[in-house]
Amino acid sequence: MSDSQHTDTLPIPVPVVFPETEPFWKGARKGILLLPFCGHCAKAVWYPKAVCNACGSSELDWREASGLGQIYSFTEVFKGEGAYRETPSYILALIDLDEGVRMLSNIVEYGAAPLHIGQRVQVVFHNGSDDTALPRFKPV
Ligand SMILES: [Zn+2]
Repeated sequence: MSDSQHTDTLPIPVPVVFPETEPFWKGARKGILLLPFCGHCAKAVWYPKAVCNACGSSELDWREASGLGQIYSFTEVFKGEGAYRETPSYILALIDLDEGVRMLSNIVEYGAAPLHIGQRVQVVFHNGSDDTALPRFKPV
């Protein structure tokens, strides 16, 4: 594992926004992590979609998440693609949010301390041009 700070300067690619994901990206631009929650069974739904994974209800509404979770798994990528092509290396991780859903993101601001499965993390937002912000996670 690299002990560099490369991931603190990750590119901020412009997301493709669909009607189902627009609230998420609007929240990110305000520095708020929003998740869709089911109005019937109250579970969080991820990724954003028209119906709840657990019960099939279409009564979903967006609420602010805690922004806290833990690393389910991670890897260091040394040869990225697209916007990440020029990035020396970065951490790609699956984050289990405290709301019960698993999100793919990057780990940033981890310094020289080794990352580990189960490590607590919190969301940070990286603002780019084009009115874009991406949620990423840093160790708590
Ligand atoms: Zn439900």
